[in-house]
Amino acid sequence: MKVIDFHVHIGRKEHWKEGVHAYQKSSGSEYYDRYEELTDPAKFALYLQEAGIEKAVILPEISPITTGVVPNEYVLEFCQGIDVFVPFCTVNPPLVADPGDEFKKYIGMGARGLKLYPSYNYFYPNARELYPVYEIAEKSELPVLVHTGSSIFQGSKIKYAEPIHLDEVAVDFPGLKLLMAHGGRGFWYDQAFFLSRIHPNLYLEISGLPPKNLLTYFPEMEKNIDKMVYGSDWPGITTIGRNIDSIKRLPLSPESLEKLLHANAARILRL
Ligand SMILES: [Zn+2]
Repeated sequence: MKVIDFHVHIGRKEHWKEGVHAYQKSSGSEYYDRYEELTDPAKFALYLQEAGIEKAVILPEISPITTGVVPNEYVLEFCQGIDVFVPFCTVNPPLVADPGDEFKKYIGMGARGLKLYPSYNYFYPNARELYPVYEIAEKSELPVLVHTGSSIFQGSKIKYAEPIHLDEVAVDFPGLKLLMAHGGRGFWYDQAFFLSRIHPNLYLEISGLPPKNLLTYFPEMEKNIDKMVYGSDWPGITTIGRNIDSIKRLPLSPESLEKLLHANAARILRL
């Protein structure tokens, strides 16, 4: 079974702040043991393919207060010419004059979607200043992945990460493909799950959640499987291959696994 990973971070050690390294090391991430290899684009692509991954969404982050800065330009260049990678860009609204212009610039440079980090950058995702961004994404049929729920990184403010803020965005941009990264992690699993059921284009993305707990967090997961998308949150896990194997061992039908691990993401990314 082919897999699409909707949530992969790349970056060199110097891009991230110490707290990120401490967390990734505590997760036993192979990133440190195989650093030179896994920060080389061609070799990293091979690593993903060996884990069964056909395509991976590659994420930048501009979060100087919390996690660090992995520039859009770095990600776009890293992904150049490698078919496995689907580069996204990011916009940090408090830091730019015109979020819409910023987004357009990176679409022009090859970005195929957008990641937003409300709790790391301190903004509400339903803020009106972001509406031009959503309008562009909706018209260009590019998905927007939004961090929701908790984060262990120092300085993040969880009030910005409540999934309910995306209810308004989903209503105002019905054609926009929106994904709630981490499925409202912490105390908003039910909220994220419910929202993804009522809005046709709002999806629940499961990165960073222990596979063995998924059916505890989302007992009715299989009924809503068309709206759920796999992501690993590499390098915040040991290995992607093991993460995928644990998902495959869940008591879900083969059809459901196919939707979760591949088909839904393929449709959202228009592959
Ligand atoms: Zn992440």
